[in-house]
Amino acid sequence: MHSIYREAQFLLSAEAWAHLPPDEGAEVAFVGRSNAGKSSALNVLTRTGLARTSKTPGRTRQINFFTLDAERRLVDLPGYGYAKVPAPIRRRWQAFIEQYLTGRRCLRGLVVVMDARRPLTEQDVQLLEFAAHHGLGLHALLTKADKLSRGAAAATLQRVRAALPPGTQAQLFSALRREGLETLTARLDAWLAFPPSEERQQD
Ligand code: GDP
Repeated sequence: MHSIYREAQFLLSAEAWAHLPPDEGAEVAFVGRSNAGKSSALNVLTRTGLARTSKTPGRTRQINFFTLDAERRLVDLPGYGYAKVPAPIRRRWQAFIEQYLTGRRCLRGLVVVMDARRPLTEQDVQLLEFAAHHGLGLHALLTKADKLSRGAAAATLQRVRAALPPGTQAQLFSALRREGLETLTARLDAWLAFPPSEERQQD
């Protein structure tokens, strides 16, 4: 495994555009429906208790930044799909995430975390289409694959791949079995490489 992910250090939490770190270097963000397994995936990737930080009360609706090295960061976006969040807060929160996804120049890619047993919820699809429309690189991480038989997991992967926006990659992942880590880190390495292997088109 590439060592920079193990070195991840909490940088800051932001709930407004002005609080974001300088838009320099390169970053990759993780997003997903709450309970999809995003924190577990980040914990396996980094092994620094990184996602525990993101789950601290008060930080679950903020964008949490983690430094990998002087130029690279991982970003944990708030989980969506909380039933109990009042509509005005949900809208404000959504607006901030949309602003981040569309306006952040150093954002090289977005990992969309989905439970392999329930992938492509309506909100997942909306987010994927929104991000694809804005030219963001996408990678679908189908977590909890250990909960499916090998055949069912393979069928899910095929079905999800067929439904994703063109150019989106998808993989199976299990935090429990630490499976899929190499595929994920290869994707992150490619996105975070200098000079950029895939320049994001700004619109
Ligand atoms: P988050 O809300 O997206 O950050 O989700 P969490 O990482 O907190 O995971 C939600 C629940 O799913 C927890 O009970 C985890 O233990 C469980 N979980 C997460 N990843 C896996 C996995 O790969 N396999 C299994 N079996 N359970 C998992």
